Amino acid sequence: MKKKYILIILFVLIPTMLWINRLAILEIVLPQAMEARFSNDYIESLQDGLHLGLCGSGGPMPSSTRSGPCVVAIAGNKSFIFDAGTNGARNFGLMGLNYSSIEAVFITHFHSDHIDGLGELSLFRWIGGQKREPLNVYGPEGIDQVVNGFNVAYELDSRYRNLHHGDDVADLNGYGMIPITLDMDEKIASTIVFNDDGVKVEAFSVNHAPASPAVGYKISYKGRSTVISSDTSKNKNLERNSEDVDLLIHSGLSPKLLKMMSTAALQAGNNAQAKIFHDVLDYHTYPFQAAEIARDAGVKHLLFYHIVPPLDVPGLETLWTSKVKGIFKNYTIGKDGMLFSLPANSDSIDTLKDSL
Ligand SMILES: [Zn+2]
Ligand SMILES: [Zn+2]
Repeated sequence: MKKKYILIILFVLIPTMLWINRLAILEIVLPQAMEARFSNDYIESLQDGLHLGLCGSGGPMPSSTRSGPCVVAIAGNKSFIFDAGTNGARNFGLMGLNYSSIEAVFITHFHSDHIDGLGELSLFRWIGGQKREPLNVYGPEGIDQVVNGFNVAYELDSRYRNLHHGDDVADLNGYGMIPITLDMDEKIASTIVFNDDGVKVEAFSVNHAPASPAVGYKISYKGRSTVISSDTSKNKNLERNSEDVDLLIHSGLSPKLLKMMSTAALQAGNNAQAKIFHDVLDYHTYPFQAAEIARDAGVKHLLFYHIVPPLDVPGLETLWTSKVKGIFKNYTIGKDGMLFSLPANSDSIDTLKDSL
């Protein structure tokens, strides 16, 4: 009998009391949770090393799971963003990363899916990061046109924010971005474009014509390294620059799925869409080709990003990665929010987060 009363208290009375008082409980718990959220600095909790996150794992196609291409490299408490696709800036915050840590942005090429989040990224860093100086944005020739365009487009917004919040919160000295054109030496395989506080960034040419110039980046810090491919057809220069790197972050497009989509579009009478699905086949790397690069360059782990199509339907991953496993086993299909850690001067590759 006594046991029966205990069960009633546990499973009926307590839940009922909690439900009745849910608003009062929320009012106590929410402020504490909010304070914890605002004071949380995930980057400070990381051990010394090179950390790579996907603030966007998708490409240009609309997707309910994968945002536009965006990679964050964290080293020495600073973060560096490589491409600013749709939602990249929002995901950066959702990953618990602090906007004030953003030191610079590097753009690979000027297809819209790689730059369309640039305005928001700059804004979040300015206001959210309380910055007093503009954001440096590196890119190949053409970066000034893109960056200056965003600066003009967001100028009215910056004035409203300054008028509304004042100089302490929205200091106009920190508004906007400064374009820095990469000084590439085409005669050599790669060029050092950033070297500060132990963080070295090298740029190298890839082939994404007619989207030209297009560059990939190699980042090194305290004995660890990673390469970010950009969009490219299978590229020898990329393979050379990826030799023995810890993590190769490579774009991938499935020819099988794109051909299926092209045929389906054609049958549905959408000739333009069918042509686009067919045309994009020639300037991207297929998943098995990225696996060949990883194998031939001797990289330790391959992380796929810029995943096309975005694999929103369950089961598509198997089709997307067909042939990959037989070529290179150490691979991961990237998801938004995924975070890898390469601790300084070690060999380990740890997964800190596997999604948002
Ligand atoms: Zn792209
Ligand atoms: Zn592209």
